[in-house]
Amino acid sequence: MPIKSLQAPVDVPLVDIWSYYLEQPRDYPADKPIFIDCDTGRSHSLAQIKRLALTLGQGLIHSLQWRKGDVMALFTPNNIDVPILNFGIQWAGGIVCPANPTYSPEELAQQLTDSGAKALLTQKPLLETARRAAALAGLPADRILLLGDGRDDEKGVHRHWTDITAKGARVVPQKPAIDPKKDLAYLVYSSGTTGMPKGVMLSHYNIVAQARQGEKGDLRTISWDTDAQLGVLPFFHIYGLVIVLATSVFTGATCVVLPKFDLEKACRLIQDHSITFMYVPPPIVLALGKHPVIAKYDLSSLRWINSAAAPLSRELAVAVWERLKVGVKQGYGLSETSPAVMLQLPEEWWKFQGSVGRLYPSMEAKIVDEDGTELGYNQSGELLLKGPNVFSGYWKRPELNKDTFTEDGWYKTGDIFYCCPKGNFYITDRKKELIKYKGFQVPPAELEAKLIGREDIADVCVIGVWDKEQHTEIPRAYVVLKPGVPETEAKAREIADWLNAKVAPPKKLRGGVRFIKEIPKSQAGKILRRVLRDQVKKEEEEE
Ligand code: AMP
Repeated sequence: MPIKSLQAPVDVPLVDIWSYYLEQPRDYPADKPIFIDCDTGRSHSLAQIKRLALTLGQGLIHSLQWRKGDVMALFTPNNIDVPILNFGIQWAGGIVCPANPTYSPEELAQQLTDSGAKALLTQKPLLETARRAAALAGLPADRILLLGDGRDDEKGVHRHWTDITAKGARVVPQKPAIDPKKDLAYLVYSSGTTGMPKGVMLSHYNIVAQARQGEKGDLRTISWDTDAQLGVLPFFHIYGLVIVLATSVFTGATCVVLPKFDLEKACRLIQDHSITFMYVPPPIVLALGKHPVIAKYDLSSLRWINSAAAPLSRELAVAVWERLKVGVKQGYGLSETSPAVMLQLPEEWWKFQGSVGRLYPSMEAKIVDEDGTELGYNQSGELLLKGPNVFSGYWKRPELNKDTFTEDGWYKTGDIFYCCPKGNFYITDRKKELIKYKGFQVPPAELEAKLIGREDIADVCVIGVWDKEQHTEIPRAYVVLKPGVPETEAKAREIADWLNAKVAPPKKLRGGVRFIKEIPKSQAGKILRRVLRDQVKKEEEEE
């Protein structure tokens, strides 16, 4: 029997994001600043967000001939304008497709091409990368728009988003009719269980469902006049894009937005803005528990921290408690599930240490063995999910979608879990290829495709190895060199340096390059990553 959420199911209204996020009455003043830029103090209230998003939405239809279903790529570090951009694009029926701002032109071009983006929003410091990527993807330069400082570029090719308006329109553009279950709101990129990054199709319904589910969890405990969060998670990743943004829009709690994580700056902001809660990945929990700089600041305003996106050991949660008397509760989610699936409540982290919590309302789970046979409590196997927040499939990948869901509609997460009889879930391993560096996705297939293109490499396999000090996986390449190429340290360094210059920082081969004679493969030629991962574990035990 599937495991059902212990909470009452939620009703999910059939409305779009605009209606659910911005047209419901809220119990906080509409002119209260909710997103604040940590450097300049610039801020946006809900009323401003709505007004500016509407202007942008109308402007897109009028001056960019925006159509329902058009994809807008977002290539920017965190910025308080992002919520306005999201809502404005979605008002006009568009799909928001965020990309990691540390991407190289080739990495960005791949996402632009795959998504078929009709325009790209970026900031001036990233303009050169954006221009090169757009050229590679065949996107005209005048479809690159700017946000942030610098209203225009020297040649006047790129417009600032605030100049995209419907001024001069003979007829005021109207919001297109949205079918919440069919029409997409976000296209976020994930490598899923295998292969290259692909677009995760998240509908308006998925995101509204996630908001309804969240209203029964963390959102209940937050109040607009006493709470404030640190917006440190990247808005280009689903965890920041949906959870951090929704939390402040729904509750009115101030969100102090950081463009880039810096520990000392984050501590100062917690102290100065009396931050009460934060959504973070495990490396930030590590810093809070262990880093000496923490002692210089008064962090006593913090009430709770939520850690997700990568494994967190119970020792780290306990270290933070002992140092700051702040509970670190865990959550679990994926891009494919909008994202939250499980969450600990504030009082539960201590009782069920190491657990990622219980199922969100309206979610069902199954844990199955290799043959798909359902397992019982306390037995480990692959986690399968159903729920209104589960995506409908990968963008333009009908074949892959057949393998992603079972015949009866369960989404196969590729994560290994067990569940205790009280309904608390524990993640123990990952079956899929994915590597996570500090919560960021590193698809091994992408690095392998680049490495195999080198003249001196005959075969290659990239796996994640655990870095105890940084509390994260790091990518390591196992390489078979072509006959006659000497296996030297200099060669290993040359290969790593070559790859590291081509990829975004999370994908760098921090675990180095190791030479082997043969990549372990199944009879069908599939790489047996597990054999290499087990070998690494054995080596670590012997050390
Ligand atoms: P993403 O789509 O980038 O959010 O990545 C989703 C993947 O992150 C999941 O499939 C898990 O492998 C991993 N993940 C998310 N939350 C946790 C967690 N609390 N502990 C361990 N791994 C996690």
